[in-house]
Amino acid sequence: GDGAAGGVAAEALAAALAAVEAREQELGRLDAVAADGDHGRGMVRGLRAAVTAAQGAQPGDTAAAVGQALLLSGTALADAAGGASGALYGLLLTEIGGGILDAGDAPVTTELLAPAVDAAFHAVGELGGGAVGEKTMLDALAPFRDVLLGHADAGTPLATAWAEAARSATSAARATADIPAKRGRAARLGERGQGHADPGATSLALMASAVAGVLND
Ligand code: ADP
Ligand code: MG
Ligand code: MG
Repeated sequence: GDGAAGGVAAEALAAALAAVEAREQELGRLDAVAADGDHGRGMVRGLRAAVTAAQGAQPGDTAAAVGQALLLSGTALADAAGGASGALYGLLLTEIGGGILDAGDAPVTTELLAPAVDAAFHAVGELGGGAVGEKTMLDALAPFRDVLLGHADAGTPLATAWAEAARSATSAARATADIPAKRGRAARLGERGQGHADPGATSLALMASAVAGVLND
């Protein structure tokens, strides 16, 4: 980090917010294909609160500082965003934060972060009652998690590992366009949402890519 308020977590969340703000309308249109069209708006609201919370946390790049900032920002995101994705993204951040917190003064490495992302993936799946292949954010999160875990074994520096994981999430988010919608208006109308990517998978890939831009090895 470059010493911005709240440290690297705040910097990463601010980058994610900027990326989602730039695509807010598109995320809303994607959500309107099969559901209520509020995904862009909700994510912007949630991420603004998350950035504010992370900026108010103890600054620093240690596992404890980043973990605590993510815990606070996840709670703030869930409260501010509302909806299904607010609860799920909030849990994602709090699970990752809680998963790295105990490493204290240690740096946030691929080896430390990958198991926390893995645990967060499982927690989000459990809360939402969903599985990979059902056209949700899990379809982008699963390959993101897989790539990070692979690089944890290989000892790859975090920025390199994260960038590759984000590229994998981006491909997977695009590929959700080929998955038929299981719920909502598109499913009832028989359109099944085919040809349109899932908004949550799209926002996850967007945010992961934006965070890659602030990490340096
Ligand atoms: P809401 O559905 O409450 O309006 P959003 O529109 O913000 O919330 O978010 C919709 C996105 O949230 C979906 O595109 C999907 O990726 C994700 N999502 C919704 N429900 C679930 C679930 N049960 N499991 C995993 N992801 C989900
Ligand atoms: Mg919605
Ligand atoms: Mg909604």
